[in-house]
Amino acid sequence: MSAAVEEPLNPAATPTGTQPLRIAVVGAGSSGLLLALLLQRQGHRVCLFEKAPELRPEGCGILLVRNGVEAIAAAGIEGLLAELLEAGLPVSRFVVRNLRGDLINSSEAEREPGELPSLLIQRRAILEPMARRLAHGVFRPGSALLSWSQDAEGVEAHFADGSYWRGDLLVGADGIHSRVAPQLAPLRRLSYLGDRVWRGVVPDDQFCRDGEFFVYARGRGVYANVFDLGRDRDGIPLTHWGFFQEEILPASRDEQRRLLREPVPEQALAKLPADLAALIRATPSDRQVANWSFDIDPLPALAVGRVALLGDAGHAMSSSQARGMTAGLEDALALARQLEAAHGAAAGQRQNAVLTAVERYNAERLPVVHRYQERSREVSARTGRLRRPQVAVGPVSSQPANPATAAA
Ligand SMILES: Cc1cc2nc3c(=O)[nH]c(=O)nc-3n(C[C@H](O)[C@H](O)[C@H](O)COP(=O)(O)OP(=O)(O)OC[C@H]3O[C@@H](n4cnc5c(N)ncnc54)[C@H](O)[C@@H]3O)c2cc1C
Repeated sequence: MSAAVEEPLNPAATPTGTQPLRIAVVGAGSSGLLLALLLQRQGHRVCLFEKAPELRPEGCGILLVRNGVEAIAAAGIEGLLAELLEAGLPVSRFVVRNLRGDLINSSEAEREPGELPSLLIQRRAILEPMARRLAHGVFRPGSALLSWSQDAEGVEAHFADGSYWRGDLLVGADGIHSRVAPQLAPLRRLSYLGDRVWRGVVPDDQFCRDGEFFVYARGRGVYANVFDLGRDRDGIPLTHWGFFQEEILPASRDEQRRLLREPVPEQALAKLPADLAALIRATPSDRQVANWSFDIDPLPALAVGRVALLGDAGHAMSSSQARGMTAGLEDALALARQLEAAHGAAAGQRQNAVLTAVERYNAERLPVVHRYQERSREVSARTGRLRRPQVAVGPVSSQPANPATAAA
């Protein structure tokens, strides 16, 4: 027998004469976490459903560009910005080298006085402080969404454990392999970008220093970047690296999985300067993740009725512009702002107000994320690729080859 999930009562003040909305957010990545925090503060009754048995903060380093840091600042969640600024390192310099290690270009990261920096930061240092601020009962790990449906009165979500939820709004923040999105946009497809990608974090304070970000320009079928991550909570200096190798995506899912368990092949490392190859070899295997690179075509809409998409679920893009996480944080802020108005509506107007808020969110964000997606794909496709991205002939799955290693 299926059981209904109840959101916790929200102790936050609600405007007089109004009732809080019942909102389900699916996916506890950076986009879903920020949205859940904002809605919780507005006084809505929120559930944040996550399929993993606990928060999944793994995933190496991130360049959170200034717009993303500004979105955190604008969210105004008490103490959150300060924690991120404390944990991250302002990017100081972008250095471009060729695969022999020769300098091509070096430029200081521009920053006007008083402006927030772009941050080099571990993904964990973004997710954990957000998760800590969720009220008791909001976070529902171990809840894998299977399907949803909506009618004139509300929206319903069904989970793998047999439970279901019914309420006013369902938000899919469930990442590139979203379960929410295909029902909303049936033509949504993953598009292979052409690379097998490894990333790692290694104790090191020599390779790049004081917020430096190194790019090794694409050539001979490979591309790499390396950046300083500062010191972790125990004072250990850390360096992040990413390594991209052009490959045909195998048709068999087993073969895709098998290849993601391999370390970076020696013949690929041989194309890199010796110091970078040594850095990658020195990285413990439990500090590395691997995935195949995908994006999605721009969707015709980020929302339909009472269902909205946020972050990678709505616009997964190549990492070439380091915009993915920022775009999801901006979405969360935009949707929460639109819903704030709906929250203030009188009981009789509430349902229309929700639909209007979602429509406005879609109108505001769709052109912005389309621009990000187009630019990211364009940059990924350019610059020295040996061949166009290729998928081997056969039944290729659009599901992750290895969900455990597919997190960013
Ligand atoms: C190689 C690489 C490098 C990158 N570098 C950068 C960078 O430097 N800067 C940057 O800004 N971005 C970068 N990105 C992109 C960035 O990591 C993503 O855009 C961002 O993490 C997406 O966040 P999200 O919350 O939308 O989705 P995710 O972080 O993917 O979170 C989705 C969550 O939903 C959960 N979930 C999935 N399905 C279900 C279900 N059915 N039911 C319940 N829960 C579910 C998942 O377990 C997960 O916790 C990079 C990405 C890659 C691949």
